[in-house]
Amino acid sequence: MCQSCIDQSRRKFLTLSAAGAAAGALALSALPAPARAAGLLPTSLDPDAALAKLKEGNANFMKSPELCANALDKRRSDLVEGQAPWATILSCADSRVPPELVFGGLNLGELFICRNAGNIADTDVLGTIEYGAAVLGSPLVVVLGHSNCGAIKAACDVAKTGAVLPGFIAPMIDSILPAARAEMGKEGDFVANTIRESAKMTAEKVVRLSGIVRQLVEEKKVKVVYAVYDLESGKVDFID
Ligand SMILES: [Zn+2]
Repeated sequence: MCQSCIDQSRRKFLTLSAAGAAAGALALSALPAPARAAGLLPTSLDPDAALAKLKEGNANFMKSPELCANALDKRRSDLVEGQAPWATILSCADSRVPPELVFGGLNLGELFICRNAGNIADTDVLGTIEYGAAVLGSPLVVVLGHSNCGAIKAACDVAKTGAVLPGFIAPMIDSILPAARAEMGKEGDFVANTIRESAKMTAEKVVRLSGIVRQLVEEKKVKVVYAVYDLESGKVDFID
């Protein structure tokens, strides 16, 4: 997306948000500019169809990872002027969890992705998710934790021992601490339980803090779910 498209869609987004705040409802009927510019419509998938497509892709990834390749050159030129991704993924920055691959070798323009250590929903991520849902028409948000997550392990250490972490890592980990504290002393593996609980809390936080997402969820235009990817098996476990 070129800078003018970003500016244009950003202005449209801000207009939508301001109108929604003033009227108590979002005016989402207009097509988002970035998709229209490319002759694209926002995805026709509803939230459940998007979820089914991710599950199918993950099953393909587990079964035949060698088949997960794409004609990138053609797809790249088709998408220069716009995008219409059909799912938004908030995942860990961990190099072992690239969403396009674990969901079956998806192509350019399919997933709208936010990544940081520990799949945390900070202000930047919340704004990005809102942009994906309200402007690009992405009908599904997945908070994707993963097994053996270093950020979650660090939060568990801090919760258990009071360890002080250096630099910006300490405040980053802060938002995982409520999940770690909630799981401390419970039956089962502390880190695994915290990975799941943190993804759950983050999904709830997105809906609680974002009026834009909450309204789209209430209108059944968007679904927010959470899941945990297993590094060993390759399976994404969607938790209902
Ligand atoms: Zn991680």
